[in-house]
Amino acid sequence: MNNRKLTLALNKGRILRETLPLLARAGIEPLEDMSASRKLVFPTTRDDVQLVVMRGVDVPVYVRHGAADLGIVGKDTLLEQGADGIYEPLDLGIAPCRLMTAAPLGFTAPQRRLRVATKFVNVARNYFARQGVQVELIKLYGAMELAPTMDLADMIVDIVDTGNTLRANGMEPLEEIARVTSRLIVNKASMRSQHGAINRLIEAVERAVAAESQAA
Ligand code: AMP
Repeated sequence: MNNRKLTLALNKGRILRETLPLLARAGIEPLEDMSASRKLVFPTTRDDVQLVVMRGVDVPVYVRHGAADLGIVGKDTLLEQGADGIYEPLDLGIAPCRLMTAAPLGFTAPQRRLRVATKFVNVARNYFARQGVQVELIKLYGAMELAPTMDLADMIVDIVDTGNTLRANGMEPLEEIARVTSRLIVNKASMRSQHGAINRLIEAVERAVAAESQAA
């Protein structure tokens, strides 16, 4: 199984748009326009590398199980899911944002237990445990800013980039939990069985990241 095609799982949307120029610099280009296609599997200009696209939360799942050898995904997703079975050899520096707590303007802590709505329940649980604050966590799958407005929660934990989404909903960012960029991840078993090919690919992407940051 040494000359198997390498499969790279990509996070669709914003991260994908920032990933493709980096991959192109590394000599890996999809053979058709991914944004104009409904396909999910794409051969590339390198016949030993194929790309698959999916939601960010699924990228570490494919890589952990070895269904994809490599992946590109936000650190927020990795912090939330943990790094079992996965190496994280490279910070790509793309799609920067922050995981933060946020609350309505003028927020004061309630007398009862704080209710926190988030998609990132593990990140939030660890963060508030470190602060020694008891919280009730409410798992949501999107539009976290709605939760305080509708009195579902007092506070949220969410991704903040410009802060515009928060401000548009009468909220403000409070504490930074983690700085987030996208990472290249590798299945641990693939790293052993395909060591040479994977290392060459990591080095090519690493050079592309360095070239991109010099060009910026
Ligand atoms: P903003 O209004 O610029 O603070 O962006 C906030 C929203 O955009 C968040 O709720 C996220 O859903 C999304 N977002 C911003 N940056 C990123 C990123 N780097 N990765 C994933 N989602 C992001």
